[in-house]
Amino acid sequence: MPQFKWITAGSDSCFACTRWSNKVFSKLYDVPELPVHPNCRCRLKVILSPQEKELVKIGDELNRLKAQSSQDVYDLSALTLIPFLFERLLEAARVLLGEVEQSVQTLGIFWDNYQEMR
Ligand SMILES: [Zn+2]
Repeated sequence: MPQFKWITAGSDSCFACTRWSNKVFSKLYDVPELPVHPNCRCRLKVILSPQEKELVKIGDELNRLKAQSSQDVYDLSALTLIPFLFERLLEAARVLLGEVEQSVQTLGIFWDNYQEMR
């Protein structure tokens, strides 16, 4: 899952902003609302796992190919890339699904323990 790093504009940031400086949030839900105050220059940096970066890269390449093919100009060398891109897409999706599966299993163990404690 993507994480979010709080980036302040500089050393002249107010206390309200500097207390979040460089803090990494693992859920977007936990991130304080931006802007914190008028003229707030803070921003969030999205931190992606290698698999997520790979998915973004593949998405960009597919979009580039799509844009090319809508111009009535068929670049055959680009079209031969498609099966290769889909293969990488599937592999990246497989890894991400594996991570989700692990999380669900961990959650299951927690739930079982919780049930036994009651
Ligand atoms: Zn700010």
